[in-house]
Amino acid sequence: MRVEIAPKGAAAVRRGHPWLFREALVRPPRDLEAGAVVELMQGAEVLGAGLWDPTSPIAVRVHERPDTARGGRVPRLDVGSFARRIEAAIARRSALFASDHTTAFRLVNGEGDRLPGLVVDRYEHVAVVRTDGDAIAAWTDRLVPVLAKVLAPRGVRSITLRDVQERDPKGAKTSLLHGEAAPERLTILEHGMKMEVDLARGQKTGAFLDQRENRRRVRALAPGRRRALNLFSYAGGFSLAAVLGGAKEVVSVDVAAGAHATAQRSFRANDIDPSPHRFVTADAFDWLEKAAAGGERFDLVVSDPPSFAPSERALPKALAAYARLHRLCAAVLAPGGVFCAASCSSHVGLEAFLATLDDAALGRSDLVVQGTFGPPEDHPTLASFPEGRYLKMVVLA
Ligand code: SAH
Repeated sequence: MRVEIAPKGAAAVRRGHPWLFREALVRPPRDLEAGAVVELMQGAEVLGAGLWDPTSPIAVRVHERPDTARGGRVPRLDVGSFARRIEAAIARRSALFASDHTTAFRLVNGEGDRLPGLVVDRYEHVAVVRTDGDAIAAWTDRLVPVLAKVLAPRGVRSITLRDVQERDPKGAKTSLLHGEAAPERLTILEHGMKMEVDLARGQKTGAFLDQRENRRRVRALAPGRRRALNLFSYAGGFSLAAVLGGAKEVVSVDVAAGAHATAQRSFRANDIDPSPHRFVTADAFDWLEKAAAGGERFDLVVSDPPSFAPSERALPKALAAYARLHRLCAAVLAPGGVFCAASCSSHVGLEAFLATLDDAALGRSDLVVQGTFGPPEDHPTLASFPEGRYLKMVVLA
């Protein structure tokens, strides 16, 4: 099926933006099922090929573009083209596959690997697939043999599907797509640090793999810093990094009690007795208010909240929430301390985020920005697709 693209949409496709909204189509086709292949036309020119979604505001996700190696023609979008892109994504991770110290990382990063809607994460011998949208979901069965073929020689023995209900993490379901049954929990290595991952019920596909290098950074920042605070600690990755780096006491704060239980098992897996450390089940804002009033001080503070801005409309409220959070963090940060502030809101750009960390926002003027960091190389992005660059961490000291 050929669809004609309006000029603005065509310009976006030429830049490599992978999403075409319904209003960018001159005459949206009717009665086309989810996952159908559409050719994107501007007049007689084929701009690309994508997959059709009949209900989402994103009507087409663009998979194939003119290929210079094929005389500028757009390759046929089929299982073969998926296989080539999956192989390219795996090849991009060859250094990670070679590591003995890191056994969990992202294999396919959706749009960022030019495989829109498809995420595959590796946890030891298990690959977890997550699809975004009905178009790619219609292809899952055809893609499993492709994934199995490239991953089996690399030690992957199970492929599972994680059905994530973003609004209700408890509604997440895991099912087996290929190979042997996957364990509900397993222990992965991240730069030599052991972390228990809840594959059955954990957030995302089990863990926040996008923070791997930032956890390593926190570990490197910890020597000589006695007390650490990890806000929105989830399974305790940053807490563990702080302790392995040299912090004597870490306080982990999260509303989810179950995450603390996982964190404590990970402490033990690394031969660290969790008992001198505190695992607080509370709202981070409430806890910070009390800690600040009670005169608690920390030499290292990490803040990694869930996205505060689900939409562009929510932006002013989100920025106000970051500013409030950061001011409270600054209030419990000891003189000479280091503050790592993260945001995973794609609608909050780096400059806007930094504005919630300036002197006026923090209420102190002794901190400078030591560095700003994004996700690691297994989370590639497209130059044309700022939506993919959601994660930022600012280190102030
Ligand atoms: N830093 C973690 C990921 C954090 S995800 C890592 O590196 O793995 C965000 C976490 O914030 C979730 O575990 C969620 O339970 C928790 N959370 C959400 N709202 C909260 C609140 N108001 N107070 C404390 N924790 C909260």
